[in-house]
Amino acid sequence: KNLKKYFGGKKSLFNRHPDTVKAVDNVSFEIYKGETLGIVGESGCGKSTTGKMIMNLLEPTEGSVVFQGKDLTELTGQKGRAARQKFQMIFQDPYASLNPRMTVRQLLTEPFKIHGIEKKNERAKVNELLELVGLNAYHADRYPHEFSGGQRQRIVIARALALNPDLIVADEPVSALDVSIQSQILNLMKKLQRELGLTYLFIAHDLSVVEHISDRVGVMYLGNMVELTDKKSLYREPLHPYTQALLSAVPVADPTVKKQRVILKGDLPSPSDPPTGCVFHTRCPFAMTQCKQNKPVLQDIRGDQHFVACHLYNGSAESEAKLKEQIL
Ligand code: SF4
Ligand code: MG
Repeated sequence: KNLKKYFGGKKSLFNRHPDTVKAVDNVSFEIYKGETLGIVGESGCGKSTTGKMIMNLLEPTEGSVVFQGKDLTELTGQKGRAARQKFQMIFQDPYASLNPRMTVRQLLTEPFKIHGIEKKNERAKVNELLELVGLNAYHADRYPHEFSGGQRQRIVIARALALNPDLIVADEPVSALDVSIQSQILNLMKKLQRELGLTYLFIAHDLSVVEHISDRVGVMYLGNMVELTDKKSLYREPLHPYTQALLSAVPVADPTVKKQRVILKGDLPSPSDPPTGCVFHTRCPFAMTQCKQNKPVLQDIRGDQHFVACHLYNGSAESEAKLKEQIL
């Protein structure tokens, strides 16, 4: 709810005019039990920072993370850790996220030790975790370097499953893998979700990866959530000009999907000096006078859970005229 993360901004002897980087600037969304919410955007849009705030790996500058009615941002120290025992994060690089000196068995039982849980039948639990991710007991006493990238990401996923998580935040979990391996890992994640009732927040820059796995998708641009809806609506009828531009760069196989080319002007502005009003106005092909002054809020404009933050849909005469232009 209203999550913000601002970096920097502290004056020092060496930097009298430090820039504040608005990595995440007032983002709100919900994740429903059992779903996959995809978050997509270019690097630097704040998607990873958002994931890390949910995991408490970063402290929000403002805003809260509410889980089953409890505000986790108010719980500190041991209480905060215990409340997030049911949250797990998977990172992009399976090479960096596994300690090379630990065997798979040690890696998979480490979560119990960290949380002080005594585990009987450790051996059986390790085998069960390995089988869930398509590996087996023979792999338990090997070291990470003996596995391929895809297998390592399976081990990372197995470790994330050790404590029966309620939420898995997956930050670009397949970006470092070969394309042929990517779909195997995505399908594994889907299978595990069906079998174990998992909930995913899936962060990626690749639109086709997000489409493959998500139920709903949020699009971020420069620290803001600009569009959020179910996957089908987003890919068939993107409303935000930024989403339209992202999608128009991806080839589609379905001829019934209406597609228009939206070409972006200029470069991504710096998050330490974001544009006034709509953060997208410097690059938007439909920018209007109101866009420079007023920041649009994410709204369910038609009452069908298709949220968009854009003045094109506010019903003003200027917007209506622009929309007509957009359709032509
Ligand atoms: Fe473009 Fe204006 Fe919509 Fe921003 S609010 S995306 S500048 S039309
Ligand atoms: Mg990132």
